[in-house]
Amino acid sequence: MAEDEGITVKKGENFSEWYTQVLIKSEFFDYGDVSGTTIFRPYGYYVWERIQSFVDELFKADGISNTAFPLLIPKKFLEKEKEHIEGFSPEVAWVTKAGQSKLEEELAIRPTSETIMYPAFSRWIRSWRDLPLRYNQWNNVVRWEFKHPTPLLRNREFLWNEGHSVFADEESANDERDRILEIYEKTLRELLCLQGIKGKKTESEKFAGGVATYSFEFLLPDGRNVQGPDFHHDGTNFARAFDIAYLNKTGEKTYAFQNTYAISTRMLGVLLAVHGDDKGLVIPPGLSRYQVIIVPIYNEKNREEVLDYCRKIHKITSGSHRTHLDERSEYTPGWKYNYWELKGIPIRFEVGMREVKQSQITYVRRDTMEKGTMAFESVISQVEVILKSIGENLLKKSSDFLYSHIKFTDNLEEMKSLIADGNMAQANWCGKESCEKKIKDASGGKSTNMPFDIPVKAGLKCVCCREKAEFVVNFGKSY
Ligand SMILES: [Zn+2]
Repeated sequence: MAEDEGITVKKGENFSEWYTQVLIKSEFFDYGDVSGTTIFRPYGYYVWERIQSFVDELFKADGISNTAFPLLIPKKFLEKEKEHIEGFSPEVAWVTKAGQSKLEEELAIRPTSETIMYPAFSRWIRSWRDLPLRYNQWNNVVRWEFKHPTPLLRNREFLWNEGHSVFADEESANDERDRILEIYEKTLRELLCLQGIKGKKTESEKFAGGVATYSFEFLLPDGRNVQGPDFHHDGTNFARAFDIAYLNKTGEKTYAFQNTYAISTRMLGVLLAVHGDDKGLVIPPGLSRYQVIIVPIYNEKNREEVLDYCRKIHKITSGSHRTHLDERSEYTPGWKYNYWELKGIPIRFEVGMREVKQSQITYVRRDTMEKGTMAFESVISQVEVILKSIGENLLKKSSDFLYSHIKFTDNLEEMKSLIADGNMAQANWCGKESCEKKIKDASGGKSTNMPFDIPVKAGLKCVCCREKAEFVVNFGKSY
């Protein structure tokens, strides 16, 4: 590749420039013409499709059904749940005209679909026999943010899943929470090879209109925090606003309990930012358009012999893996190495006359750039072993990076310097919103979540007011 086709900055030196170059030059992403919108090029969209189908299969196995609701929400519906509309109104895009005539009622473009789905839920749910109702949709939503957009991480339009469930009682609603968080965690670890922090959001950071929000939080190499998949328990808030009620077994009208949950294309940004390196993207084996790229090395004399051997390798591996033979004669092998490294393909085969003669294959793995050889007869099992090892290595690296950057402190001043140095600061907290706000002002970060399974540090009080600590909470700089 020519100099300007590759990445010209180092990830560790200028992260934001590196991030933009990697996304554009790998042909993963392009800018939409409206600021903050995204074009997913086929190479990038493929990764989203893999995530989508993996999650979708787990949802269906758990009894969730897909549905598709309209994009437009009548104004009166959007305004029905008070906290919900207060939370979203600054970012709602409106349709006010059709052709030249002004619409009688303005229509919102969905920022999320509670208010377009729940009037229908109210019609469909009559008795306890109609519950639970567990629906999901894969769609796009628009949130007209005014903060500076960052490709995939902060956008005005993004793709996601929206799960919306209705239960007769709170216990079954909470039971669903554990199962959905497990599905997301499996997806994050096994497919995206990413370690996140699972926890509960504080009251002030929870979903507008909900009762409790749970999330997976991530740390990017530039020290900023990104919220990943989340789950909201809405109690009966929306059920009361939209009259989602059922007659129980003794014939009494009872409000239903609801949950919502989502994973969005923002995770693609986290994926690329965490795994990528100075050569470009590093795509985990389960998500990559190709898992193996075969690059032939030949001269005029041995061209057909080398290509024949490459085709044989391609044929035998393509039954079990996504492999591609790059036969283009207009590019040199070296150019092809750089090209596929930039795109982050997990394994490269380098195949020349020496490999033909010895009936073997030279390979390079993208995550470590380690080189080795394998025998032709064992190519399928060897590829499987290397792909598995790449996945494990990426997850381990992501986990090591995350945990080495979560720093507990009992000192408010130190929280500020920890966050400024690219860490997530962890502290004991009393649970009062006034303290959370003071910590936020003093540290320059905001609360990300209260991690599960981490008890309050014994013997220490709230980092802010020095009263009894009830929670351990993480603070970080956000996108
Ligand atoms: Zn306090």
